[in-house]
Amino acid sequence: MSSDLPQPLPHIARLHAYTPGLQPTETGWVKLNTNESPYPPSPRVAGAILRELGSGADAGASLRLYPNPTGAALRAAIAAHHARECPAATLTAANVCVGNGADDILNLFVRAYCSATAPLAHTEPSYSLYPVLVAIQDGGCEAIPFGRDMRLPVEKIAASKAPVIFLTSPNAPTGVGFATAEIERALATYRGLLVIDETYARFAVENAIPLLARHTGVAIVRTLSKSHALAGIRIGYALAHPEIIGALDRVRDSYNTSRLSQIAALAALDDTAYYDGMVARIKATRARLQAAFAARGWFAYPSQSNFLFAEPRNARGETGPAVAKSAYDWLCAHKVLVRHFPSHPLTAPFLRISVGTDAEMAVLDNTFQAWLKNA
Ligand SMILES: *Cc1c(COP(=O)(O)O)cnc(C)c1O
Repeated sequence: MSSDLPQPLPHIARLHAYTPGLQPTETGWVKLNTNESPYPPSPRVAGAILRELGSGADAGASLRLYPNPTGAALRAAIAAHHARECPAATLTAANVCVGNGADDILNLFVRAYCSATAPLAHTEPSYSLYPVLVAIQDGGCEAIPFGRDMRLPVEKIAASKAPVIFLTSPNAPTGVGFATAEIERALATYRGLLVIDETYARFAVENAIPLLARHTGVAIVRTLSKSHALAGIRIGYALAHPEIIGALDRVRDSYNTSRLSQIAALAALDDTAYYDGMVARIKATRARLQAAFAARGWFAYPSQSNFLFAEPRNARGETGPAVAKSAYDWLCAHKVLVRHFPSHPLTAPFLRISVGTDAEMAVLDNTFQAWLKNA
């Protein structure tokens, strides 16, 4: 860094930014590294965007105007959607905050609830963005470690003194889902705010929304990126007590979601039949992939998400970080992109593989087969 340049704050100069999964610009990749949907969103999404844009000399005229600052219609639609699913939680628009993806929402929680003297705790290994968001605000951070079994550390959460905890359920990168009853056991003694990142809940056997009816210290984070095939649209949201939503709104950018994003999200939420079908297809492919790993004698955690966390075993029967790296490199050289997390001992022997189409899973299988023969 050149010393005559104005310097950022010391904690920003020290910061290691989040590393997103690769987004290759050339075609021909089997892309299984960022848990995007292999299927397109509901056709109603493109229809609604085109309708909003209009046509002719006036096309795009509405883009002159700022979007609704709170995403009011979208908040109401999200509340209605989950109220149908879980009447006990009695959700209204006052229980919803929308953001520029779940990442934006998570950042709002950090801004509003975390500081140097109010540390945020998060389970580990989990989504590696959490400590980065905390570091940006120069906040305190505590890891709540998983063991190799990846079971929910109920007692550690229950005993935590951190004013806010981020819990990923189902977890990433393992795909392991946690029973709502287990989470509720931790809530019997934990006194802070438990933020449950339910990015992958649509692929799970249950979700924690019923807890909102019984615990004011719970917030749920969702996104349309994965289960609604809209990663490019950037809509995520929080469900929580209205006072918690009020805190998020105080620290939010005034126009944190765009006009077209709000419209796209409304159209997607309206097409539950389409998404029920898409999620069922992904779960069926996931079951076949899990069976294929088992048939090969490879361990993979039981997944309640749209990806598998699998431990490759080479032709000599070995597993470990070097074996996973070898499989990753081989896949990459053959234009199959997955994710390897070498920096944590519990993740280094594994690869995280998004569930793709059946055709993509066949390419993956053939490429692993070739690795076994050649590596
Ligand atoms: C993908 C992901 C997110 C981010 O979702 P966006 O809505 O695209 O920002 C958040 N949490 C977890 C655990 C994720 O895997």
